[in-house]
Amino acid sequence: MSERAWQEIPRLDIADIDLPRQVGGLYELAYNLWWTWSSRARHLFSLIDSRTWALYRNPVQLLINFDRHHWNEKLEEESFRDAYHEVYGTFERYLVETDATWFARTYPGEDRPVAYFCMEFGLHQCLSIYSGGLGVLAGDHLKSASDLGLPLVGVGLLYHQGYFRQNIDADGRQQHIYPDADFSRLPIRPAAGPTGRGVFVTVPFPDREIQVRVWVAQVGRVPLLLLDTDVPQNDSADRPITASLYTPGREMRLAQELVLGVGGVRALAALGIEPRVWHMNEGHSAFLQFERLRVALAAGRPYEEALGELRHHSVFTTHTPVPAGNEVFEAALVRKYFGGFLGGVGVAEDRWRALGRNGEGEGDEPPFNMTALALRTSARVNGVSKLNAEVAARMWAHLLPETLPDAERMRAITNGVHLSTWLGVELQELFFRWFGERWHQVLGSETGRIAILDGSDEQLWEAHLAQKRRLARFLRARLRRQFARHGLSPDELRVVETMFDPEVLTLGFARRFATYKRAGLLFSDLDRLRALVDRAERPVQIVLAGKAHPADRAGQELIASIFRLSQSEGLKGRVFFVEDYDMRVGRQLVQGVDVWLNTPRRPLEASGTSGMKAGMNGALNCSIADGWWPEGHSGQNGWVIAGKDCGGDEAAQDREDALALYQLLELEVVPAFHDRGGNGLPRAWVRRMKEAIATIAPRFSSDRMVREYADTAYVPLARSG
Ligand SMILES: *Cc1c(COP(=O)(O)O)cnc(C)c1O
Repeated sequence: MSERAWQEIPRLDIADIDLPRQVGGLYELAYNLWWTWSSRARHLFSLIDSRTWALYRNPVQLLINFDRHHWNEKLEEESFRDAYHEVYGTFERYLVETDATWFARTYPGEDRPVAYFCMEFGLHQCLSIYSGGLGVLAGDHLKSASDLGLPLVGVGLLYHQGYFRQNIDADGRQQHIYPDADFSRLPIRPAAGPTGRGVFVTVPFPDREIQVRVWVAQVGRVPLLLLDTDVPQNDSADRPITASLYTPGREMRLAQELVLGVGGVRALAALGIEPRVWHMNEGHSAFLQFERLRVALAAGRPYEEALGELRHHSVFTTHTPVPAGNEVFEAALVRKYFGGFLGGVGVAEDRWRALGRNGEGEGDEPPFNMTALALRTSARVNGVSKLNAEVAARMWAHLLPETLPDAERMRAITNGVHLSTWLGVELQELFFRWFGERWHQVLGSETGRIAILDGSDEQLWEAHLAQKRRLARFLRARLRRQFARHGLSPDELRVVETMFDPEVLTLGFARRFATYKRAGLLFSDLDRLRALVDRAERPVQIVLAGKAHPADRAGQELIASIFRLSQSEGLKGRVFFVEDYDMRVGRQLVQGVDVWLNTPRRPLEASGTSGMKAGMNGALNCSIADGWWPEGHSGQNGWVIAGKDCGGDEAAQDREDALALYQLLELEVVPAFHDRGGNGLPRAWVRRMKEAIATIAPRFSSDRMVREYADTAYVPLARSG
């Protein structure tokens, strides 16, 4: 295999796409998710057929639908041909110019790949294999690895129904919709084996073997392997193992994690990929260590040596201090699936069970803890913000090696987000005008601050307003669809067209409706909220979105009550709940609002990333000092909601934080927004927007994050032993 051949895994052709020779490159462009972060590539697709593009935002679907008789006409259009050559040229250069990347220049010759495992990947809304922050972070990690030239291969599961789509009914109840994906219309293809057939690996289950098909989603230079059990070789009861993400059934969840961990290691081997470093992004994939252990023992290595060796090349990132986020399985269940698997290579049960034990004194049958397994088998362990690393170091102190200094036992690598994915096109165009082709570097460097502060206030404000108007169009269309379903009349629907005024100060709040995120804080004093949104000369509008897990009744109740409040007198027309929060809704919101709200119960928000996306678009964060915000807040780029510390009394803390939030909005945020110069321009506000962009874009980009993983974990581990 040639040096970097693993980056170009051969794939089968499964879609019915017939392209004229002159634009044959569209095929490769459609199947490389590079288009998800190239606005010019997306523009090119929209030039082919703007209506189909607007409907699906999926180039594979677009090319399948496009009538082949229309190509002649299309090829006559000079603007289309030019756009094609420009985009395809950029894409080809992106793929071949690997020597110029950050990684190739910094670590020449270091080309053995990192294997990056995660239960979910958020790359684009058309690929529904993510639920929220963890997946979006993993997707951004792959995109930055590609941009930086880091040799990396992702491993995940290909869910047929993904996470649910959310509808909100007229009473505010969350409806769960599980559409079946048609994989032949998505930008993924099956890996091709040497004989031109698909690539399958087997995963041992009690009394049977499961066949797993390997698919590839190509993310720039980085392949993402996706595992699928829905194949005819499997018993019909086994096929739905990869049906849905975060299934509530415990045994089904274990089966999924077995497929991800064990199947993932085998898929890499089947493709001839030999990772040098293994990264577990959250504990769900930790069974991969059992497979690596089994392989080493089967090859005759002694147990301790095999364990030490695999540990030496492993990285683990923990993402949540919330107990429910740390996966635990009953001992009997794990025995059922792994007793024979590890017993077969001579590992006694107490030995492997000890690896998943969390502390002492849990009785004879302590549950098996996936975080414990990952921690025990990793040489580099990190949390996702400085504060989170401190909390995690205390939480897992009993499992971390005592020989290391504190700062190395649990490191902090603060999360980041992928700039070109999350920055609005209007701002991208403005920065292109200001800084030329190098705009990305200017924004990414700490020294870009001066250049950003020098930019024209008028132009920045105009670009922001353009993004806000785009949010207005998007919201109105969504709300019209939602309310039409609820049975509103044409006259009532017409009113929707005038809702959401782009001139009005707009607050955004979008996230999972987990209790600790406290979406209800803003609604805890309704009179005060009504007074806030309804002041004639200084109104405020609020847009909310978010899903609650299908098993989380309390979260669903909260959504229902907020939705009903948004329809109530005094809030109607000022408070909007937009259904089906996904990456698309997320992009519209973070790009179009003025202020981003974040009200978690400290210190339960490990990092949070939506505020980073908003901040690099010039929105000002208004947040509890939790997760990334203590590192992000510079004094000028947003506000801290600083309720008096109530020493662990949750109800009292909620009241304090709510008071602090209202006060901040009334006394600081609203007046600052309305402090206007003669021409109506809010100069002081724009100055803060510039501060937000200049401080957040470089320090909270996923490029910075992936460089940190490379410098402090991947490369040191790859080079040692
Ligand atoms: C960024 C993002 C998240 C994570 O945001 P948090 O601030 O961590 O809650 C969740 N869902 C979607 C769709 C996102 O884009």
